[in-house]
Amino acid sequence: MAEEANPFENLQSQIDDAARHLDVEEDVIERLRYPERVLEANLTVEMDDGSLERFRAFRSQFNGDRGPYKGGIRYHPEVSRTEVMALSGWMVYKCATVDVPYGGAKGGIALDPVSYSEAELERITRAYAVELRPLIGVDRDVPAPDVNTGQREMNWIKDTYETLENTTAPGVITGKAIESGGSEGRVEATGRSTSIAAREAFAHLGRDLAGTTAAVQGYGNAGSVTARVLSELGVSVVAVSDSRGAIYDPDGLDVESVAASKAEHGSVVDYPGADEHLGNDELLTLDVDLLVPAALENAIDGDLAREVRADVIVEAANGPLTPRADDVFADREVLVVPDILANAGGVTVSYFEWVQNRQRFSWTAQRVNEELERVIVDAFDALVDAHGREGVETLRTAAYVVAIRRVVDAFEDAGTFP
Ligand code: NAD
Repeated sequence: MAEEANPFENLQSQIDDAARHLDVEEDVIERLRYPERVLEANLTVEMDDGSLERFRAFRSQFNGDRGPYKGGIRYHPEVSRTEVMALSGWMVYKCATVDVPYGGAKGGIALDPVSYSEAELERITRAYAVELRPLIGVDRDVPAPDVNTGQREMNWIKDTYETLENTTAPGVITGKAIESGGSEGRVEATGRSTSIAAREAFAHLGRDLAGTTAAVQGYGNAGSVTARVLSELGVSVVAVSDSRGAIYDPDGLDVESVAASKAEHGSVVDYPGADEHLGNDELLTLDVDLLVPAALENAIDGDLAREVRADVIVEAANGPLTPRADDVFADREVLVVPDILANAGGVTVSYFEWVQNRQRFSWTAQRVNEELERVIVDAFDALVDAHGREGVETLRTAAYVVAIRRVVDAFEDAGTFP
């Protein structure tokens, strides 16, 4: 497992797999395997009891050939330099897959947010925003939410930036609350694109998504909205999980009630209507039609992949399959819809939010959702096309073939400086 556990090496192996199908110079590909720069900062922040605590914080700007750097900010104890480097690279290829005019970045702070008060989290976030200030900007680098961050943190970062810059610049960050310049549909966007990708994947196999069964690992923003939209599309969501465990009901869970129960009690495992409790690996190996990993990286390795019984896997999380798991699924002809397409709804609606901020004009939820539908369906079709035309093994490699080609074209059009 050790050689599979480094997400940055996983990213590089995904780039190398696609590069074999592209007529691109090796030194140009080499440039696309590493971030352009990584900020590493020590934040020293006063706690409520007057003591000082130090936090390690990062921002990796991987590539800006296609536009401003773009990517979320994660608060988690496992955040590290290599993790943000990997996540920033996935952002580059995700933005290129759905053809939104951004490069890729990612940031994070190594902390467990449940251990801090709201006032402490605000001071930590504002200290981080001060470090980010020279790097970010509406046309430079535009952060967004990721694991354990949301509208609240985005609003604090925007306010710190605007105060220090003595300006108003809502487009400096996306994922804001609506009243602070956020977009309709942003909170639901990742789960919505994951569900659209699932619908397209089943249609590609000549099957109807309605009437299928699904299991969803992770019940935060990405997982809970995916479960809700899948239910609306007629899928029976039989199992869901979070970091404390999984719940199962063969007749289908009432996913809205599960979300309400988690909001009240803190975990899906406290949901009173569950038929059975499962371990997380048991959820991943349930006999369902569709499996949606929506938690963290490396959830399924090569060994577990042999036990998975779903026909289709749609990655709501970033990097949930190791490269060996990918190989196993390719051999077993399990269709995997890659993260850089499936969860790209988040960055796509972030892009719509940024466009609205620049225009100082708000779109309706209907317009946001219609534009999102078009972007994801077009991107899925481009992947299927690349998959058939170029003889590449998987939809993931097809996505990287499409995305790397777009990044290389932008790089070659611009030339090198100096
Ligand atoms: P979140 O913090 O809202 O939720 C994460 C969920 O995963 C929580 O329910 C947590 O309990 C659960 N979890 C953590 N470890 C787990 C484990 N071992 N087993 C089962 N569940 C576990 O985060 P999110 O925003 O939903 O992000 C989830 C994934 O989706 C991440 O990989 C993130 O990068 C990706 N993603 C999110 C967005 C977005 O817009 N929120 C966009 C693109 C990709």
